[in-house]
Amino acid sequence: MRLRHKPWAKEYMEAQEHVFITHPETLKGNWKAEFKNDNPLFIEVGSGKGQFVLGMAQQFPDVNFIAIELFESVAVSIVQKLVETPMSNVRVLTVDAKQLVDYFEAGEVDRVYLNFSDPWPKTRHAKRRLTYKTFLATYEAVLPRGGEIHFKTDNRGLFEYSLESMSQYGMYFTDISLDLHVNEPADNVRTEYEERFSALGQPIYRMEAAFRP
Ligand code: SAM
Repeated sequence: MRLRHKPWAKEYMEAQEHVFITHPETLKGNWKAEFKNDNPLFIEVGSGKGQFVLGMAQQFPDVNFIAIELFESVAVSIVQKLVETPMSNVRVLTVDAKQLVDYFEAGEVDRVYLNFSDPWPKTRHAKRRLTYKTFLATYEAVLPRGGEIHFKTDNRGLFEYSLESMSQYGMYFTDISLDLHVNEPADNVRTEYEERFSALGQPIYRMEAAFRP
């Protein structure tokens, strides 16, 4: 993700209280009250500019979605889109995924999406990959028993690593595709990176993985 410094982003987002959550730790255990319904809660970690999470939120109005994006200068694009086209089932957090347990109670998140996560190809950076075992433990801590991660990437190395990492963690796979766009499912919501890499003719890898109950 190319980062442009946007000094106005923080102030702009903080003014959109209905969308951007400035103190997510205060909502730990209380997300249903925040959304004012009992619907399932799906989170996307590393949402970028939000094409996926907003497309999903439109397709599934009875699911609540939280976009988690580390950088304010990137997340502000999601907030801007929500100002233009309001959706009551989306919130945006600019936090680090490694802190998820500070913001969600055990079992409060019903599904985790990871899309085109940074590959961090050097072995010495493996701990930064969002499918490294410490991140898996964090997702497991906020999901219900047997909870699922849905993962897409163009990066074969990261895909292979993630299969191994999840398998070693004791997870199992309920769906794997090595070329998602051959017979692309009608309900697939493409991310920005997915559009870009698919246009270059690269295969898109996808998996659904579940923690052992
Ligand atoms: N998911 C989008 C897509 O498919 O178009 C964006 C992909 S981009 C390569 C990865 C995004 O993950 C970046 O915007 C980055 O800032 C974010 N990210 C990386 N590590 C993160 C972390 N630990 N917590 C939250 N977001 C993170």
